[in-house]
Amino acid sequence: MISMAGVQKYFGDLHVLRDITLDVPTGQVVIVVGPSGSGKSTLCRTINRLEPVDAGTIAVDGRELPAEGKALAALRADVGMVFQSFNLFAHKTILENVMLAPVKVRKLSRADAKARAVELLDRVGIGNQADKYPAQLSGGQQQRVAIARALAMNPKVMLFDEPTSALDPEMVSEVLDVMTALAREGMTMLVVTHEMGFARKAGNRVLFMADGQIVEDTDPDTFFTAPKSARAQDFLGKIL
Ligand code: ATP
Ligand code: MG
Repeated sequence: MISMAGVQKYFGDLHVLRDITLDVPTGQVVIVVGPSGSGKSTLCRTINRLEPVDAGTIAVDGRELPAEGKALAALRADVGMVFQSFNLFAHKTILENVMLAPVKVRKLSRADAKARAVELLDRVGIGNQADKYPAQLSGGQQQRVAIARALAMNPKVMLFDEPTSALDPEMVSEVLDVMTALAREGMTMLVVTHEMGFARKAGNRVLFMADGQIVEDTDPDTFFTAPKSARAQDFLGKIL
């Protein structure tokens, strides 16, 4: 579903992604961990071309992402992304936030988009907040709206970049529960997170990144109990 080959990315002189080759099959839930600055966010951002790459290829569902234009907008719609900051439109209601892109990009009628938005808001447990504005919701609720908004586009892949790290601790699990349900329904997911409980419960695979490279690629239990590299051992020693 996601296929990267020989991807290189520089920010000026800084070599941020070093020859990344990665295949994520449909339905797999991949957890990405690693020290700050190792390239986890950049990896996510290159997959939907928020960041251009300097070399290599990236394909989603068998189609290589075009560099720009309408084709890019269409393909980008197949890749949902949820960030640490929720990035909701402050002056629009929760319902409008979820309806907006399907109407604009997918050309859904407002009635169809509304029906779908209502269904998705129910699914993430905030159907009763649809007419409120983002500032009236808790962080955990806002992040669940952000997930519903991404799902409204019927993406083939969902990317999550530290979706719970800006939340108060008591709100983390309500967001992880929604993500776990999504994983169980078979969504292909790439999740940057240090939430180990989630990684072990919902993840099929862990990538450990350091200095722009994938240093370990294994299953969650093996990674968290018996990491091979000294770098991963050192990293786990700090977060556990
Ligand atoms: P964190 O755990 O702190 O989120 P990360 O693994 O997500 O880190 P990235 O954000 O991918 O790391 O950054 C990788 C490297 O690229 C870092 O050294 C960072 O400073 C640098 N970098 C990221 N974005 C840019 C940018 N737009 N311009 C220049 N350098 C950047
Ligand atoms: Mg990051």
